[in-house]
Amino acid sequence: MSRIAVAGCQHETNTFAPLKATLADFEASDAWPGLTEGAAMFDAVRGINLPAAGFIDEARSLGHELVPLIWCSAQPSAHVTRDAFETISARLLALLATAGSLDAVYLDLHGAMVAEHIEDADGELLERVRHLIGPDVRLVASLDFHANVSARMVAHADALVSFRSYPHVDMTETGVRAAALLHDSLRDLGRAKWYQSLPFLMPLTSQCTLIEPLHSVMEHARRLERDPILSLCLTPGFPAADVPECGPAIFGYARERAPLERAALELAEDVLGRESEFALSTVALDSAVRLARDAEVSRGRPLILADTQDNPGAGGNADTTSLLKALLTANVEGVLAGVIWDPDSAARAHAAGQGASVELQLGARSGFPGETPLKARFTVEQLGDGRFVGTGPFYLGGRFELGPMALLRTGQMRIVVASRKQQAADAAMFRHVGVEPSQARVLVLKSSVHFRADFAPLASRIVLVEAPGPNLADTSRLPFTRLPPGKRLKPRN
Ligand SMILES: [Zn+2]
Repeated sequence: MSRIAVAGCQHETNTFAPLKATLADFEASDAWPGLTEGAAMFDAVRGINLPAAGFIDEARSLGHELVPLIWCSAQPSAHVTRDAFETISARLLALLATAGSLDAVYLDLHGAMVAEHIEDADGELLERVRHLIGPDVRLVASLDFHANVSARMVAHADALVSFRSYPHVDMTETGVRAAALLHDSLRDLGRAKWYQSLPFLMPLTSQCTLIEPLHSVMEHARRLERDPILSLCLTPGFPAADVPECGPAIFGYARERAPLERAALELAEDVLGRESEFALSTVALDSAVRLARDAEVSRGRPLILADTQDNPGAGGNADTTSLLKALLTANVEGVLAGVIWDPDSAARAHAAGQGASVELQLGARSGFPGETPLKARFTVEQLGDGRFVGTGPFYLGGRFELGPMALLRTGQMRIVVASRKQQAADAAMFRHVGVEPSQARVLVLKSSVHFRADFAPLASRIVLVEAPGPNLADTSRLPFTRLPPGKRLKPRN
């Protein structure tokens, strides 16, 4: 039996996004718990598709004693403020310093966190923890599929284990893998490590593991992970981050170095050999609207338009209106859109009451250049308090707290509005306000890929739309300054 301290701090930083993550953002709950310390963190993450939840259950069932420290996350955004990072880091280290004798520390990290004053914030956190626990206590972290893994992170951790799926339906499972790795290989960790970054950025929408090329590549990675290799991971990276480590990486751990090196290089060759298949595949706004207008859609099988550039799961704010306006202007029938972040309109809808008719200036609150609110008269069809539980494979078990919500209708369009921003990746976000997404003719979702976990089975067709928004789909259009020479800004043809 080992004594293992457990902590988590997750942030995916889009350094090009407009709004930073403050301490208040980490303290607030969204689909996931707000900042929680001590034993309460066990209850906070229980039953949710989160790595910490999987780690805790598995480590306990393997008979280990767990010491809870702190868990927090904030929605993807621009940099984590210095205040937020230093406060969370200080709390974590203070709790760790008084945790008593430990055999290991487990951290539930995202791996693409950038603070105002520290580019590699995950590497910094791992280094601070390592400094405190010394070289003999094991340090293992789980990472998101969108981690921008650095040499510093690899240097200070005994093992890093990342998700294998996007949509991330295996977050709990990744925590289980981290616990099993610690349990089975406590003594073997540290014998051989491998880390390499790959030389091109992968657009977010090309990273989906339900479709090619990553579907096959991830299967390949799974096959290569066999004795004496303890763990072999590929992270495609989070491309909207102007940091030297931005992009895909391969890393692994083994009892012997040579087979690990062979397997990692074979996997790298697979990715590089398919580079052109990772090219961006999106549709311009005008074409998407024409498609939506003319599509023959049978009832129960909506056409999905993914408004990827305003995905709040990647630094957007779920409040751009260009796509909505264009669909309204073109009189596209049977549109259901969501989830728009606009606390003011949600409050007005609640004040007006169900069934009322209200004049609203919807969306465009975050100030993205060129975006203006959708001014219209709306019927308030349904209201909600924003508290419900995630039912889809990605947000499974998540106890949502999105504040006052409303289902609004104008013309042929219904729009779901929330007071807190959250990626539209779970049908429960619509059902909460009494609308069944499968019954829409055209479903507009503020999401890039995660929506596929719950919505792809409903869809007659999925179209990734390039409408205005801060989360640029074309990575070569991002104004990078910190990438190392030779890194390609998009896949080579
Ligand atoms: Zn991710």
